[in-house]
Amino acid sequence: MNETDPQSGIESLPARQTELGSVKILRALPRRQRRMVGPWCFLDRYGPLNFTSEKPMDVAPHPHIGLQTVSWLLQGEIVHNDSLGCEGLMHAGQLNLMTSGWGIAHSEETPRQNSGTLNGVQLWVALPGEYRNMPPSFDHYASLPKIDLTAAEVTLIIGDLLGQASPAKMFSGIIGAEIAFHEPKPIQLPLRRDYEHALFVLEGDVSMEDRRLDGDTLHYIGAQRDELRISGSRASRLLLIGGEPFRERVVMWWNFVARTDEEIAQARQDWIEHQRFGEVKAYKGPRLLAPDLRKYAPANPAS
Ligand code: MN
Repeated sequence: MNETDPQSGIESLPARQTELGSVKILRALPRRQRRMVGPWCFLDRYGPLNFTSEKPMDVAPHPHIGLQTVSWLLQGEIVHNDSLGCEGLMHAGQLNLMTSGWGIAHSEETPRQNSGTLNGVQLWVALPGEYRNMPPSFDHYASLPKIDLTAAEVTLIIGDLLGQASPAKMFSGIIGAEIAFHEPKPIQLPLRRDYEHALFVLEGDVSMEDRRLDGDTLHYIGAQRDELRISGSRASRLLLIGGEPFRERVVMWWNFVARTDEEIAQARQDWIEHQRFGEVKAYKGPRLLAPDLRKYAPANPAS
């Protein structure tokens, strides 16, 4: 299934199909063969889909610890509500960033007023040890830096690139960017040699160093690269993620990123007992139940 191209050294991992409620998703991270890329530890791709009366995104309140959730849309809208009382209505090109720290609960839904489209990605960033028990926070970024490279436009989601810096809160060396191609000419992006990187094609055809990148696949390109030479068909889009290799061993279960099984069990118990996380008062309906702890490996995150 996964293959490493001997010439380029690119490791290509097809995403796994799963579902979140009624929405079909492709899970690119974590995979058994690759758990993380820098601090990025979760990548779900959903859509594009069109809808009329139903509400495709409806993730009831659920808890998180030890991570940041990064919500990014190519089309459509999502409204976030959390146990701090924050509401974040997000449109395509905007960023909802939730820093769970010690603990927070949130819901994500298609808002009542919507465009009838949904197309996006949901990512998680693991927080390093010194920050993972900090107080939770939520930030909505209505606009992000854009870098015009003529053949393509780069939107800097998190981290810095080409002299621009995203305002998104970050706690370890990280980069996240969306590259939208306008014309099929190669562009070159400088990379930090000490960061590892991966690419995920969001739309259209994208090539790296004249090698076409399969869709629905995480392409891990490793570290020790000075630059990235890529090209894309008109209106194609690519997601670049990367960062300093994460030095701590993480334990992931359901929506928790921790270090030990005991921390996971405690967070689960706190959710069941209505401790620690607070309530998402803005959500109409029941919250998600914690899965059985015996289902340790397959517990499906609610993203
Ligand atoms: Mn979530």
